[in-house]
Amino acid sequence: MARRSAEGPRDELTGIIASARMHLEMERSLGAEHLPFSPERVKELRVRRRAVAAAGAGARKAAELEKLRRELESCCRCGLGKGRINLVFGVGRPDADLMFIGEGPGQQEDEQGIPFVGPAGQLLTKIIEAIGLTRDEVYIANIVKCRPPNNRAPLPEESALCLPFLRRQIEIIRPRIIVTLGNVPTQTLLQTAAGITKTRGAFVERDGILYMPTFHPAYLLRDPNKKKEVWEDMKKVWAKMKELGLRIGELKSAR
Ligand code: URA
Repeated sequence: MARRSAEGPRDELTGIIASARMHLEMERSLGAEHLPFSPERVKELRVRRRAVAAAGAGARKAAELEKLRRELESCCRCGLGKGRINLVFGVGRPDADLMFIGEGPGQQEDEQGIPFVGPAGQLLTKIIEAIGLTRDEVYIANIVKCRPPNNRAPLPEESALCLPFLRRQIEIIRPRIIVTLGNVPTQTLLQTAAGITKTRGAFVERDGILYMPTFHPAYLLRDPNKKKEVWEDMKKVWAKMKELGLRIGELKSAR
């Protein structure tokens, strides 16, 4: 073992290298021809080291998200806070590569405090599963975190007041791809006035994140013919995730 040198880190490093060399020379003199690490073992150790680092990053992100959620628990910055049963903060993997963003919670989401659990949510779950992922592997959130009355779209001032918190969530999670569901999240996050029929199906890059606008699942429930467009968009998301070497399962057939 190299001793900690009183001369400083450079001397200490020189000492470490010298004792490593001595150790290797001794191994060679005893007949060793290579280190007891095969390329497979080195690869395995590298994968394990990455997994340990990712778990650490995931835990840190989970803690930061929880801190943000607590900050918002009693939020009444806009009028929506007064009418809510539950804050609908967001669910999923804190270090997800893929994030879905909707408009705002509906009745069932408000009752359960979880985004996309009603009929549109069940369809979103199927869309996620169609690209070989589960809800636990992605992150799901909304532009506003409290239910607008009678399921109306959030007002621009409500979206504007809630947006910094969604931006903070995005900053913590740092997904590689965000799918915006419908006009409200697409126009709000991409700061465009263009409608979803125009913007859907093409990636747009903002701050190093790729955005894929597509139709909102609630719209698909009203017009199931539009499912094939969403399927086309999701196939592009799947292909991009593959290209980027991200975790993704098999592409299922359209349902
Ligand atoms: N629609 C949304 O936009 N978000 C939800 O959470 C549920 C329905």
